[in-house]
Formats: sequence, structure tokens, C-alpha cells
Amino acid sequence: MKISDVKFEVKRYEYHETFHITGSSRNIAENIEVKLFLDDGTTGMGEASPSYRVNGEIVSSLVTLESNVKEMIKGLDVRDYAKIFNVMDGLSKSAPSIKAAVQYATLDALSAEIGLPVYRILGGSKDTIETDKTVSIDVLEKMVQKSIETFSQGFHVLKIKVGENLKEDMDKILAISDATKGAEYVVDANQGYSPKEAIQFARFIYDNGINVKIFEQPVIWNDFEGLKLVRYESPISVAADESARTKYDAYNLMKDDCVDFINIKLMKSGVSDALAIIETAKTANVGLMIGCMSESSLGINQSVHIAAGTGAFVHCDLDSHMLIKEDKFRGKFTQKGTKLIPS
Ligand SMILES: [Mg+2]
Repeated sequence: MKISDVKFEVKRYEYHETFHITGSSRNIAENIEVKLFLDDGTTGMGEASPSYRVNGEIVSSLVTLESNVKEMIKGLDVRDYAKIFNVMDGLSKSAPSIKAAVQYATLDALSAEIGLPVYRILGGSKDTIETDKTVSIDVLEKMVQKSIETFSQGFHVLKIKVGENLKEDMDKILAISDATKGAEYVVDANQGYSPKEAIQFARFIYDNGINVKIFEQPVIWNDFEGLKLVRYESPISVAADESARTKYDAYNLMKDDCVDFINIKLMKSGVSDALAIIETAKTANVGLMIGCMSESSLGINQSVHIAAGTGAFVHCDLDSHMLIKEDKFRGKFTQKGTKLIPS
């Protein structure tokens, strides 16, 4: 069936607690819901969670794209979803989160039309995925307390935000690991360290036997050489997040041996580049994780279906819906503790 209309709607969400990472502290998320209407009344939903920090996106300017997007895809049939994906690829640089939402809404509408869940349209590799939960930057005592609380809720992988102060970060990660024995960690510096600091941090973690599986975005996004240096000097696997927005970024990072892992986020890459990065990473033997911005359950749903459908991720960081206040859960998945089960 053909697309007859497209509607954007801005939604505002409050965080349960201030979400503090290197260079950003926020209490509010503003997302844009995208609804596609088909000729026969079928609808498809997607969600954009724009990021100024990573993508340079501003909500008030993104909403003005509604009529342009409608003009671009009206009359296209969702069964020919690659055509719609190709049209939306034009927004890769200027509005990647809108590209993601429209591409996913297309799959959601197709799913409704043919009666097959999106994760099965994408291959149905897994029936269940598992997520970590994030502990954002705070004073040491609070981060330890939050880590204990999260670990006792059953999250055996904790994502720990670091990157603002190397010495304090060392004290924090050591105290957290002492207090949560048996847990695994992903540490994310959100571009906060110099290459030298990042290498010191990685060696400290290794020397103290702290069970860190992935060290995410140690240095500034455009320092590919720095990333590569950290990768080769670090005993821990290094991942690119802010450095890897499009499939071209990911390709260059892999080609130049800069990373062990890429953190794919639909809000940076859309569905089309995410699928391309998955295939390239498989070919290059680079590991994959999937992350999120500030998506509600509607937006996290998108990544749950991509992750389960492709089965491509060794680590999932899909927790933003747990960090914000929502009136109503709207994912087409159920959550049992750490497990996310698409339906
Ligand atoms: Mg990150």
C-alpha cells in the first residue's frame, strides 16, 4: 500500500534523574514522533530522538521538514521499502534522526500490512536480546550506590560514564568494581580524554583486574589517529560511538584499524546505514554494539527489532526508556528484567 500522509509530533520527556555525561547534563528529552498513513488506513510509527551534541540537530528546525518528507515519499509503496530508504538517505547529514524514524515507520507500516513483526522481516536471528543499564556521572558515593542498586536489579552489565576527570574516574571505577563483584562493565568517556589519558585509564583498569569489556569513545570524535593509538595501546577493546555516525565513518574507522567495536545508533545512522555498517563490520571482523540517545519505549522498540532481527550485536545498550518518565509503554516488545523480547 502507498503512503498517503506523514505527520510529525514533538513529545517532551523528563528524566527520572539528571543524566550527566562528559560535556552534557540534561533533565529533559524532546523527541519527534513520525506517523505514516497508508491508503488503506494502515499506520506506521517511528521516533526521532535528535542530538545536537552528536548530530548537530535542533528539534525546532527538524519539525519544519514534515512537509518536505511528505512530498518526498507520498505515493511510494511501503513494500518497496528500499526506495523509501534511498530517498531518506538524503537526510543522512542534516537530519539523521528523522531519517531513522521515517525508515523505521516504513518497516512498521509494512509489518502491519503483511502481519510479520519487523524483527522477522529483518531476518529473525534472535527472539530475545539483553540490555545493560547506564550509571551517569556523579560524585563517587552516588555512582557506587547507583551501581549497587542497578546490579541488584539484575543488570549484570553496567555502563559507567567517565571522561571528565581521569584521577576521579580511576577512583570511581575501582570503588564500583569493589562494590559490584561479578558485574561486567562498559566504560564510556564520551570523547573526554586525550589519547594519553585514555591509555592510562585502560592500563589502570587492566592492572586492577576490573572486568571492563568495552572502552567507548575515549577521545574526540574526529581524532581517528588518537583512537587508533588508544586501540593499540589499550589491553581493553576500544569502541567508536561519536566517531561513527554514517556508514562512511564506520568504513574509514575499520579500514584504518582504529577500533575493535562500533557502537551503532539508529539516531546517527538510520536503518539503512545501520544495516550497511553491520555487513561491513562482519566482513572486517569488527565487533558491534547498539546504543541509544534519549528514545522513549517507542524509539527503543526500533533498536530492539533491529538488534533481534539482525542478531549482529554482542552488546546492547538500550536503556533510555528506563531513564525517562513515560505515561504509557509503547514498544512492540516485552521486558523481563534485562531481557527485551520483540513481538
Ligand atoms: Mg557512547
